Amino acid sequence: MLDRIYGERDRKRGPERTLLWLVSEVGEVSEVLIKGKSSGSSYEVELADALAWLLSFANVVGVDVEEAFLKRYGSGCPRCGSIPCICPER
Ligand SMILES: [Zn+2]
Repeated sequence: MLDRIYGERDRKRGPERTLLWLVSEVGEVSEVLIKGKSSGSSYEVELADALAWLLSFANVVGVDVEEAFLKRYGSGCPRCGSIPCICPER
């Protein structure tokens, strides 16, 4: 869906600038955590935007995130293989 909406524009922008936008959006998620409602936004909005930029970045670098996610996490934790994870907390 994101590729259909922004794919052409994202590819023109390139991976470096798209990654900068992603990092900026993650920063806006942290602003909601720090400032709460006075940030003028919400987790719902900022997480959706951060996810959209993550998906745009994946599209630009040619990664199918759904496939990659299932390959890595589809059978549980990639380190211990369990659901739920039983790795020591980090
Ligand atoms: Zn684990």
